[in-house]
Amino acid sequence: MKIAVYPGSFDPMTLGHLDILKRALEMFDHVILLLAIHPKKQSSISVKDRKKILEKIAANFPHQRVSVETTDGLTIRFAEKKGAIALVRGLRAVPDFEYEHEIYAANQIINNQIEMVFFMAKKEYSFISSSIIKQLHEGGVDVSKLVPKEVLDYLNQQKMTKVSK
Ligand code: ADP
Repeated sequence: MKIAVYPGSFDPMTLGHLDILKRALEMFDHVILLLAIHPKKQSSISVKDRKKILEKIAANFPHQRVSVETTDGLTIRFAEKKGAIALVRGLRAVPDFEYEHEIYAANQIINNQIEMVFFMAKKEYSFISSSIIKQLHEGGVDVSKLVPKEVLDYLNQQKMTKVSK
């Protein structure tokens, strides 16, 4: 079975992320959505909530094709432990490339048997980032065409909770 790990902050997951997941599933039997916890990166949505959202999204796929896990360690080490053959990442513009290039070099030092597979963002998703989504939503803009339904439900629920406080 060909297993791939798709690591990310998913803060929150966007349709850009979801598209990469779907394309990865064309190549791999199983994709692990790995919620990577970066102690230094400030996140807006708690790990618990992000994990819950990812689990709901994973449940939309046929049984055993997508699972969700978390790590606060190195993603390449996680991939080794799971017997994965690849790490999946998405590329939008040049800054993504520069960052991923560094990560690739670092991962090669640790384990050069695990490939990194990069999917170019589709044109319609190439400007979407988790931070843009949060800004738009907080500004009252409709983001329903930019995020999975599970994320939209979560964001709307959070907004309602804030208003009622
Ligand atoms: P990280 O903090 O690890 O970069 P992100 O959740 O921001 O986590 O992104 C995870 C991966 O998904 C990265 O490879 C990123 O480049 C990719 N990605 C993010 N947004 C998009 C998008 N709109 N289209 C394609 N890939 C994306």
